[in-house]
Amino acid sequence: MSQDNTPKIRTRFPPSPTGALHLGGARTALFNWLFARHHNGSFVLRLEDTDRERSKQEYVESILDAMDWLGLDHDEGPYYQTQRFDRYREAVEGLVAKGRAYWCHCSPEELKQKREQAMAQGGKPMYDGSCREKGLGPGPGAVVRFKGPRTGSTAWHDQVKGPISWENEEMDDLVILRSDGSPTYHLAVVVDDIDMGITHVIRGDDHVANTPRQILLYQALEAKPPVFAHIPMILGPDKTKLSKRHGATSVVAYRDMGYLPEAMLNTLARLGWSHGDQEIFSRDELIQFFDLDAVGKSAAVFDQDKLLKMNARYMQAAEPKRLLEPVRPFLAQRGIQLKPEQEPLLLKAIPELTPRTPTLADLADWAEPYLLEQPVMDPKAARKFLTPASALVLARVRDLVAEIGVNDTQAMEQAFRDLAEQNSIKLGAVAQPVRVALVGRTASPGIFEVMDILGRDRVLARLAAAADLAKNPAETS
Ligand code: GLU
Repeated sequence: MSQDNTPKIRTRFPPSPTGALHLGGARTALFNWLFARHHNGSFVLRLEDTDRERSKQEYVESILDAMDWLGLDHDEGPYYQTQRFDRYREAVEGLVAKGRAYWCHCSPEELKQKREQAMAQGGKPMYDGSCREKGLGPGPGAVVRFKGPRTGSTAWHDQVKGPISWENEEMDDLVILRSDGSPTYHLAVVVDDIDMGITHVIRGDDHVANTPRQILLYQALEAKPPVFAHIPMILGPDKTKLSKRHGATSVVAYRDMGYLPEAMLNTLARLGWSHGDQEIFSRDELIQFFDLDAVGKSAAVFDQDKLLKMNARYMQAAEPKRLLEPVRPFLAQRGIQLKPEQEPLLLKAIPELTPRTPTLADLADWAEPYLLEQPVMDPKAARKFLTPASALVLARVRDLVAEIGVNDTQAMEQAFRDLAEQNSIKLGAVAQPVRVALVGRTASPGIFEVMDILGRDRVLARLAAAADLAKNPAETS
């Protein structure tokens, strides 16, 4: 057997726990996860928590929660950068020892002055490198800067954007270790990606300008840079940067509004990636088809309305059993603790309800009347349809149900027609009071399906209660 020497693909997702996981971050996580899964590689999770003031445990938990909900499982980690400070310090000391980094004692005031001077002379506000050759050691307030090359250029072949090259003189000497001993983002991310054997860095294109700086660090640390792929930014439908104006920005907000993770995943996958004209992908198909060569260069557009439509499609296509657990918390929000003996009824109702319920929250709303002992009457509907005139119709329908039962929907439909004809009223004048009697509202699936879902006894009880109400409309507030 021939041996495959190509290194195993390893990707990473390194969120900073300074907020909830937003859509852009989730898309980045998804692309890294899909790329790793597609190539039978590993997906590493790392929390970049070096900003101790803004990083919070609650955000760590909410990010992990969101990834769990999306089913983006990691093979390694989570690693925490705050647990690796010794390693960063060691790397920085190594760079100083090799002359690839230096201690800088310039005070914040001096730096400000230098920047202003540079700008006054028409240049960029860059550090002038005055400590580069001084051979200074540590001291109060001192930082370590990377000694970048002053000539030449740094180039890479971006897997999405193609060849990119950066003039080295455009990049000033980065601070890699702060005066408090903490590493900066560039240093920590490069040391981590080396130590964790990351082969592919897939991230948003707001990081393009960081890449040449990081490649220089790889070189100084004598490590081979990974493959970089910068994925296009996400815009709202009005083509401006995605923000709160375009809808909820955090992934868990969508979970809490009753979206299904598979609809979210499908929508996120399509933000910058495509596979022919296919619109709906199963998780397995995403893994099978995903690769970086099908990631486009142009900005992706997120449209919350489209996500809702996508969710509606998934709701309708879902096996009723699939929705049972996720709908439970939404029922609980309405004060309904679903009991095991109610599950068969709900399972029977789900296929009739989902064409009308784009989210789980809507499903819970529409399912409510079926799960209560008696439906909550919409007063307006009761006033309009539970009138003394309809009391008679309701009583007649009750007799029919007692006679025919509720399972033979065809027979019941015929009986409704006959009843309408005998009384010279329209079919709707029979169906609508019955609907209000059964679900307390004017909208529901087909009335015969509703009866079938509720079952004979519930239907009889509800018709009786509604007939009473219809006889005494004053009781309807
Ligand atoms: N923690 C960084 C971020 O959340 C990671 C950037 C990177 O992928 O290198 O933006």
